[in-house]
Amino acid sequence: MSDDAELSPSAKLCLACGLCCTGILGPHAPLLEPGDLEIAKRSRLRVIPEQGVFELPCPRLDGTRCEVYTDRPHICGSFRCSLLARLQDEGGPIEPFIDAVKRTKELLAFLESKGMSLHAGQDRKIEGSGDDAYEIMSVVAELMERLQTDFINTSPYREPIKYPAGS
Ligand code: SF4
Ligand code: SF4
Repeated sequence: MSDDAELSPSAKLCLACGLCCTGILGPHAPLLEPGDLEIAKRSRLRVIPEQGVFELPCPRLDGTRCEVYTDRPHICGSFRCSLLARLQDEGGPIEPFIDAVKRTKELLAFLESKGMSLHAGQDRKIEGSGDDAYEIMSVVAELMERLQTDFINTSPYREPIKYPAGS
């Protein structure tokens, strides 16, 4: 039996995804617990202490895997997008959840093939002409719908811990 076959459904889904580390859902992740700043610095994340966040896309994301899995800030293990929350709360076959991730990545790849990206820190300008423009706009519409339905954060909102600049 391979290692992946022994993973929980949640771990399988997140290993097929990794989107919350890419910046597609937002440019920052919060430092929520005492000790997160030290962990984030030790793991060489790009921290903004005075805002209590680290920047995304995360430099420790390798494909869909976290290079610092055992030494991550609290948010990394506690974040639940809607898709993960539905899988954990309602169960059922994992395939539709993996398909939702695959489709979302296809839409992102299509936009990137057109020279566009919706990831944090990159140019989010959407442009095209004629039939191209129509296809692009329909892809953007489907992507926005999927991000809203499947990937918004369902975790209770908590204020990050802010530190003095230069911490
Ligand atoms: S976006 Fe959701 S499914 Fe994807 S890695 Fe993050 S928590 Fe897991
Ligand atoms: S530390 Fe790991 S889990 Fe956290 S954002 Fe970076 S790659 Fe993702």
